[in-house]
Amino acid sequence: RVPVLAIVGRPNVGKSTLVNRIIGRREAVVEDVPGVTRDRVPYEASWNGRAFTVVDTGGWDPDARGMAQRIAGQAEIAISLADAVLFVVDAAVGITDADEAVVRILRKADKPVVLAANKVDDARTEAEAYSLWNLGLGEPYPVSALHGRGSGDMLDAILKAL
Ligand code: GDP
Ligand code: MG
Repeated sequence: RVPVLAIVGRPNVGKSTLVNRIIGRREAVVEDVPGVTRDRVPYEASWNGRAFTVVDTGGWDPDARGMAQRIAGQAEIAISLADAVLFVVDAAVGITDADEAVVRILRKADKPVVLAANKVDDARTEAEAYSLWNLGLGEPYPVSALHGRGSGDMLDAILKAL
């Protein structure tokens, strides 16, 4: 069976943009309006000759109700079905309460986690990414899903986790 990577994180951190970067195609829907990716959407990917499935999830607002709560539930299901998790945060914004809530759920899930500090478009933002060691999830990988910066190192770490 091909290993499965779930991509989780709160809305608008760039999960779908990162999915497109990983699969090398523009198939996941990227939106300026949060909450566009609703369910678990699988995509076939490969890196260094190893195939894996990437599952994009909708935005994860732990305090949400109604539709948004359903989206959060989908992310939790995605984690339970995955072999490893790519947790995406926005390094330009920093850690929010919603991010912290996701971290708690990740700890409980006890799956290998790769931490992506997205929106590190230039060297200036990189210092921000390294403060994410504090989350206790291991090495933060600074990436720019938009420009591709840092994605090779992140993908190497993903292969090790899968
Ligand atoms: P999602 O809700 O987590 O799936 O986030 P999206 O992938 O839909 O992206 C949300 C917004 O962030 C869009 O406007 C993207 O263009 C933008 N974005 C994503 N990745 C980056 C990045 O690396 N750098 C910058 N500057 N913007 C990004
Ligand atoms: Mg999305």
